[in-house]
Amino acid sequence: MKILLHNLVISGKADERRPAQLLVEGERIDAVLGPNEGVTSDERIDLGGALVLPGAIDGHVHFDDPGFTQREDFGTGTRAAAAGGVTMVVDMPCTSLPPVTSAANLAGKLGIIAPKAHVDFMLWGGVSSNVLQNSDWRGQLEELIDAGVGAIKVYLLSGMETFRDLKPEQIFEVLKITAQRGIPVGVHAEDRRIVEAAKSTVLARGGDSPLDYAASRPAEGEIAAARTLRDLCRQTGARIHVVHIASYEALDIVTTARSEGLQLSAETCPHYLLFTDHDLERLGALLKTAPVVKSQQDMEGLWRGLEAGELLFVASDHAAGVWPEEKKTGSIWTDYGGVPGVELLLPALYSEGVAKGRITLERLVEITSRAPAEFFGVGTRKGRIKKGYDADFSVINEGSTWTVRASELHNKNRYTPLEGMTLEGRIQETWVRGQRVFARDESGHEDFSEQPSGRFITRGGAS
Ligand SMILES: [Zn+2]
Repeated sequence: MKILLHNLVISGKADERRPAQLLVEGERIDAVLGPNEGVTSDERIDLGGALVLPGAIDGHVHFDDPGFTQREDFGTGTRAAAAGGVTMVVDMPCTSLPPVTSAANLAGKLGIIAPKAHVDFMLWGGVSSNVLQNSDWRGQLEELIDAGVGAIKVYLLSGMETFRDLKPEQIFEVLKITAQRGIPVGVHAEDRRIVEAAKSTVLARGGDSPLDYAASRPAEGEIAAARTLRDLCRQTGARIHVVHIASYEALDIVTTARSEGLQLSAETCPHYLLFTDHDLERLGALLKTAPVVKSQQDMEGLWRGLEAGELLFVASDHAAGVWPEEKKTGSIWTDYGGVPGVELLLPALYSEGVAKGRITLERLVEITSRAPAEFFGVGTRKGRIKKGYDADFSVINEGSTWTVRASELHNKNRYTPLEGMTLEGRIQETWVRGQRVFARDESGHEDFSEQPSGRFITRGGAS
């Protein structure tokens, strides 16, 4: 069965849009053709001049399944992904029970989530200090890597009893194994001692405002952690990735380390690119995340770093609390830290980045698709529009302008700090391995494919 997508543009160099046709056979791209080339196909689909990008990959989501499905589950999370043009998510190991810290736990989780997946998915594996109490934790980590996790997650500062943080010397032990296996380690990078000291100072004066929360997680915490990780890179030769970086000074340390040949990279999230501590004051817990949003200078620095290639990719850190109960507890300290974001990742970056001229279309493709595909070891099958690659597409109607309404999102707990924002460019269709899993017409009518057809993708695994 051959399907020809025509009347579309694909991205080229910088902001170039190139008219093309895409021939899809089964799950793969069979040919990328010029707009007027003749070709035989079983079905022709007119995309009305839309922009077709390689499917977006959200490399950092918390879909909480199993264990915390009152917050999100794999069905609702991946439906939201499909509606946002995301064709693959990479789920974190720490916010489901049991955590993905062994091959057995991974197998158990797969049995539960795979039947619900509307888009493809990979899994992060993890190492917590809970796991280090087990004398065979090294063997467990090796098995987890053998099972095909995309990367390994650890925390320098965790608030979770079921997935506790590691001391730098413990991370050092983990890195000895991952360096040998050639798998990256993603680190929640805030210095525990700095944050704990700042928090006690704030609490001692009775602080309980959003800005008090911000003061309890100062940029210095991220900066010190980035230095620690740089030193660990130096000592071990391992590949380390700072997840959700918010401080521009911390990013600067990462960039400098890379220029010295160290394998240190970083991702940021849309909320750090769209909001500052002023917005936190206004929005309160709606924008509570960890790390916390930072200053205007940090935000501008992150945009510059995004265009300049200092940041490897952007991910949502999708983490929804039960709305409104967990987000409106009466105190900023007990309000849930996290925002849902998988559905708005690509629309926000397209609108605020490309449409506003902060980043080129070429760069958008790199930070939402190509770079994450390579980082998670699937760069030979995902992340490009090229013959032989998976037919994963994010189709954007560039002429459409719309207003974000939390009530119209598709994840389980619907709230967003982007409420009321007007965005340019709207997701028109989402294709995963040759199947249209989501479509939205001009009148806003939405269609999801009935059967979840997302598949577990393993690091470096044959397709
Ligand atoms: Zn996270």
